[in-house]
Order: sequence, then C-alpha cells, then structure tokens
Amino acid sequence: MKTRFHGSFTQREPIPEAGIEAALAVLRHGRLHRYNVAPGEVAETVLLEEEFAAYVGAKYCLGLASGGAAMACALRACQVQAGDPVLSNAFTLAPVPGAIASLGARPVFVDVTEDLTIDLDHLGQQARASGAKILLLSHMRGHICDMEALMALGDGLGVRVIEDCAHTMGAAWKGVPSGRHGAIGCYSTQTYKHMNSGEGGFLVTDDAELAARAILLSGSYMLYSRHSAAPGPEVFEALKLDVPNVSSRMDNLRAAILRPQIGLLDDRRARWRVLYQAMEAGLQGVPGLRLIPRPQVEDYMGSSFQFLLPGWQAGRVAALVAGAAARGVELKWFGAADPQGFTSRYAHWRYAAPEPLPQTDRILAGLIDMRLPLTFTPADATEIAAILAEEVPRAAADIPADLVPVAAAD
Ligand SMILES: *Cc1c(COP(=O)(O)O)cnc(C)c1O
Repeated sequence: MKTRFHGSFTQREPIPEAGIEAALAVLRHGRLHRYNVAPGEVAETVLLEEEFAAYVGAKYCLGLASGGAAMACALRACQVQAGDPVLSNAFTLAPVPGAIASLGARPVFVDVTEDLTIDLDHLGQQARASGAKILLLSHMRGHICDMEALMALGDGLGVRVIEDCAHTMGAAWKGVPSGRHGAIGCYSTQTYKHMNSGEGGFLVTDDAELAARAILLSGSYMLYSRHSAAPGPEVFEALKLDVPNVSSRMDNLRAAILRPQIGLLDDRRARWRVLYQAMEAGLQGVPGLRLIPRPQVEDYMGSSFQFLLPGWQAGRVAALVAGAAARGVELKWFGAADPQGFTSRYAHWRYAAPEPLPQTDRILAGLIDMRLPLTFTPADATEIAAILAEEVPRAAADIPADLVPVAAAD
C-alpha cells in the first residue's frame, strides 16, 4: 500500500514568545513608525539594525519594507539609471528582475549551472556584451557560487556586486556571512524566509556613502541622525538634497517581531540541515535523479531542497509531480510551461525581453524544488524522501497516457 505524507509544506513555526511580547508592547504604546519615539527611547527598528549588523559583521544596516524594496534601494544607492543593463541570474524569483525593472533598468540574464549557481563563464560574456556595471547576484534557493572567483571576475570587469540573500540569511561561504562579499547584501524577512515578520527586509554594507544614500532613499525625511547602524551626519549632509525619498521603511512592530529571531538563526540552520541531510540520505542513488552537490566551504541553511531529473521528458516530470502530490508531497517544477505560485522562470518575465538561454532551459526543465519548513521533523523528511524514492523510478518508467503528448517546456 502506498503511504501518504500528511504534513503541511507551507506551515511555518510560530513567532517566538519574546517577539510576541515585544510586538504587544509596541501595539500598546502605539509608536509603530520608526521615527515616532518617546524622549530617551530607542526605536525597535534601530535596535534591530544594530543587532543584525552585528550578526553579519557589517558596519551599516537598514531595515526595509521587503526584500524586493531592499534590492531596489540597493540598486538606487548604486545610482543605476533608467535604461542601464543590470546583470542577474536567469534562475531566480520574480522580485529580483522586478527590482531591476522598478528603476526602469534592464535585466541581463546569466545562465545557471548544474549546481544551481550562476555560470561564471557566461557572466563574463554577458558583462562584456552588455557593458553592465552592476550584478544583482541571487543566491537562489541557498546555493552559493565560488564567491572568491565571482568577486575576482567582478573586479576584473569593473562590475559591482549586490547580493540577494533572501535564501542565504544565516549562511556563509568559507566563514564569511552571505551578503558580506558584495558592496551591499540584501535580505528578506517575508514569511517563507529564515526570519518571519510577514513582510520586511534589510540591506547591509560597509560603504558609508551607499549606506547614507540607502537611508535617505528609504524615506528618512531629515531624521537620519536617529539611525545608529549608520555613518555620521557629515556623510548625509553632502547627499541629503540630491537623494529622493522612495518610502520603504521598516516599522517598529515588525522590528519587535524580528529581534528575537536573529539569535535563533544559527539554531535554525542546524535544524534545517538535519532535515536537508535526511532528504539527501533518502534520495542517494535513486536512478534518474541527480542531487545537487554542496561544497564543503558552503555553510548552507537547507531551508529548501532541490534535485535534477536530467534529460527527462516534460510528461514524465509532470507525472512525478502528480504522483508525489497524490501522496501528499508538494513539489515545484521550474520547467512547467506556465508560471505557478512562486515558481516562474526567466522566460516568463516578458517585460525584460529575455534572450533564450538554452543551457538554463535544459537545466530548469528537470529542476524539482521543495520547501522544508521547520515544522517538519527529521522523520517527516525521511518519509518524504522514501515516497520520492518510490515515485521517481515509477514516473521514469511509465507515463500516464494523458500526459504523453505534453510538449517540452519552452
Ligand atoms: C523572497 C525573495 C526575495 C525578496 O522577496 P520579498 O518578498 O520582496 O521580501 C528576493 N529574492 C528571492 C530569490 C526571493 O525568493
């Protein structure tokens, strides 16, 4: 008899009690806006920025309304202009090219490799061909490329790097926290990420001018002196009349919810890794399936799990997704013809007029993705892997008649 998994792939853990208490205190005093403080009070948002800066070892940190807002703010702080080409991953989520498009700039997509990281050879080619001076690098699904090689390439090409760390908050490459290689690191605290405030985000940098521009852009009015993870007033003085207000601030309610979660990130990484490794162990050696190798020097979070079905016809992949769903296992397929839920790919971002990328198409055609919420136990992960270990060979062997004529995803 076929077993069925009964857990929820979208149920996150509750907000820690300390966050609930702190949020209630903010609600009771009513000073939710970050610049609305009582005499002598330090806003929750300011404390959050200090604490997150300390966690990643950055000089400056700014809380923002979302991860997408953080990326757009970072691009504006780097003075990207309308019409400018901006390099980014072809394999990422919609808010990344969306942040570029929000400035009227033009995304230039770079291929993904079989290891789900950015293709450095193609990056060099696209940089030279487009003349782009900025890379918005997405550590999509937590896979970190060789950061030394990437930064050396960027330096050689005169390309500045902004990191999208929506899936790598709490991760590191050779001990350097993700988001600390590029000029700016951007993070999301949206519900599905590693800290949860519903919506929210951060950017971090060591560059005083970028930090001051970002704070002014976020909508600081002339209250920038109330920020503490920020450069001194002289840096703002020189810029304050030249930088527009593009309101996208963090508020004290979200900050209160988030502050106690910073200290949980390392524990969350350890717990996620147990789930991730249970998935890996259960899928090792399953024919037709390729696991994604994780470099020793990559301290990854493991909050989601991917595998490749190399060379599979679309009909077989669809049969696997359906077979797994029938047994309670929610898979996402990056090769589906139409964008579904959170899963779209570069070819679906028509506003960006993407050029075809055959290598990326081939890889994404066989890419399966799965959430691993921390509400799962290690036994849950083992059960999911066992179901997939049965369903993958089954889908590879027989294709339900109604799925046979499905054309390859384009
Ligand atoms: C979630 C996400 C973001 C930012 O998302 P927001 O919903 O705007 O906070 C950025 N990049 C990736 C890859 C994401 O998954």
